[in-house]
Amino acid sequence: MKTAKDDIIRLPNEHLRSRSKRVGFIDKNIQQIIDGMIAATLDWEDSREHEVGVALAAIQIDLPLRIVVIRNDFDNKQDRTFKVFINPEVVKLEGKLIEDFEGCLSIQDVYGKVPRYERVKVKALDYNGRPIRATADGFLARVFQHEIDHTKGIMFIDHIKDRPEAFFKLQEDGHLSELDYEKDIRENRILW
Ligand SMILES: [Zn+2]
Repeated sequence: MKTAKDDIIRLPNEHLRSRSKRVGFIDKNIQQIIDGMIAATLDWEDSREHEVGVALAAIQIDLPLRIVVIRNDFDNKQDRTFKVFINPEVVKLEGKLIEDFEGCLSIQDVYGKVPRYERVKVKALDYNGRPIRATADGFLARVFQHEIDHTKGIMFIDHIKDRPEAFFKLQEDGHLSELDYEKDIRENRILW
């Protein structure tokens, strides 16, 4: 069966806060999972008017495997190709901590201003099991940190839990607005 947006799990599903396992052998089955992750991300994007499906970790389709897919071009929705990172590991974090907006396919409509390192060096295996290394800065560095967090069971909201001013809500018109931290975030049983 084809993997689609409904296969993406969301909080309060507690699987999202579990650590994923290392992929041992990269075979057809693993590649099918990866193809499904990409299909689900694009299907999700096609259902959302104001958002781009930037990346996905396997746990988000409820498979606890250390696999991440990241869009090749965030700014161009027409480019529907992805890079694949199997067993991704942060080798080095560099630069300053910078705050910027993040959302997550597994947290509906809540956005946050999350501090992330400016630059990151990552190693992983590609779709065919070949070792790869990548250095990223700017938004891509942020995406790597967000996705590798997913493989460890960490959600972006966990980094800003106690910071009322860091949370925002996506409005129907696509703009982000402030929300009531106490009611919408702190006491929101879906999130914690
Ligand atoms: Zn996410």
